[in-house]
Amino acid sequence: MKSAANRIKIMWVFIALALAGTIFLVYSMVVDGGKWATSSKNQHLYINGTLIGAGNITDADGVVLCKTADGKRTFAEDGEIRRSLLHTVGDNYGFISSSVQNQYRTDLSGYNRIMGVWELCNFEQGSEVMLSVKSGACRTAYEALGGRKGAVCVYNYKTGAVLVSVSTPTYDPEDVPDDIDGNDEYEGVYINRVTSGLYPPGSTFKVVTAASAIDNVKDIKTKTFNCDGAYHTDYGEVKCMSVHGELSLKTALAKSCNSAFAEIANETGSNNLKKTAEDFGYNKAMKLGKLGVATSKFVSPGKDELELGWAGIGQSKTLVTPLLQMQIMGAIANDGVPVKPYIVQKVTTAAGFVSETAVTVPGSRAVSEETASDLQQMLRNNVENQYGNWHFNDGLKACGKSGTAEVESNETPHAWFAGYLQNEEYPYAFAVIVEHGGSGSEVALPVAAEVINSLTSD
Ligand SMILES: [Zn+2]
Repeated sequence: MKSAANRIKIMWVFIALALAGTIFLVYSMVVDGGKWATSSKNQHLYINGTLIGAGNITDADGVVLCKTADGKRTFAEDGEIRRSLLHTVGDNYGFISSSVQNQYRTDLSGYNRIMGVWELCNFEQGSEVMLSVKSGACRTAYEALGGRKGAVCVYNYKTGAVLVSVSTPTYDPEDVPDDIDGNDEYEGVYINRVTSGLYPPGSTFKVVTAASAIDNVKDIKTKTFNCDGAYHTDYGEVKCMSVHGELSLKTALAKSCNSAFAEIANETGSNNLKKTAEDFGYNKAMKLGKLGVATSKFVSPGKDELELGWAGIGQSKTLVTPLLQMQIMGAIANDGVPVKPYIVQKVTTAAGFVSETAVTVPGSRAVSEETASDLQQMLRNNVENQYGNWHFNDGLKACGKSGTAEVESNETPHAWFAGYLQNEEYPYAFAVIVEHGGSGSEVALPVAAEVINSLTSD
């Protein structure tokens, strides 16, 4: 009897092991099946590391950005479109790891969890990925950057659709330069600066400081500040570019006065400023649809009056991605609520089944509707009375803020311009950075205006 009981026990152990094995197999198929089916060792899909049966990648208007022809993966016909969208579309070697070609390789290869590779076998074509970008406007942005390093992004702040995303330096994926890894001209070329570039925001951050002051400093809208050329503390001073004299919050923002904003930051307080920065998205994980984005950083200056002064004008240790700069402007334009950006509009399988479609996702409120309305008036005033409406097409009602961000080692500062259009037909927010470009209003604003004008003149 005893040995029969033992045999039953052993049998149960075998059954349990077999069951566990089956569960593990099913689990791995669900979790890793796509990776397995599209592994570069699987020669049915890949030849020399290239996805051979992969579907097209197109822009929002159906312009083909990447396709498979004669067993080869080829890119857009227009060379400037190929360069301008390299970081978004990707390459044939996986160097641009955050690209759609790399991140959506499972869909592009035709695999999906329900049908496996059935569609690929029957149609010899993977899914098509349609992006939200307008390739013509991306080419304009690439041309406007004129060979300088930097980034340009534009999105619809009502829907979340990214219309322009361009990062330079770049190269032609059809003709990779031989000296790409040694030449300084290509420094950081594999990085998508729109989503992974972290830069000091400079004076564009005064918009966040102003928002925090509106919410935390009593009578801020009737208060005046006096600029004698610097904000003075016992430990040093924050210098201004000019001697501005008496200023209100609104004129201090329009003139971009450092003295006034160092003082405003100190009246607002370190904790309040940090909270407002975080409400706008600093120190928070961010995504572009499924694609990863670097986290922008705001470090609390604590009780250090001088450091808080620097933080108030966007210097100190603050770092921001162009994508978050754009989203902050979108939040203000959208009455305080940022809509999350996306760049993949739709994924359609070879059989015509839509397996993924972009949805509009509002993020958590950054500022109250009243505060957003105050900021809207100030940012509109900046363009009307400081930068000039003439930069933009008639009737667009552009709003924005320039920035000239100091960088270490006495190099030429980075030029920023971030803003949005107060326009029902074109609800677009944008950010432009030109690395070591100099003045934001002289260098980055014309780039932003050229791209916006091309997007709004059809
Ligand atoms: Zn000043």
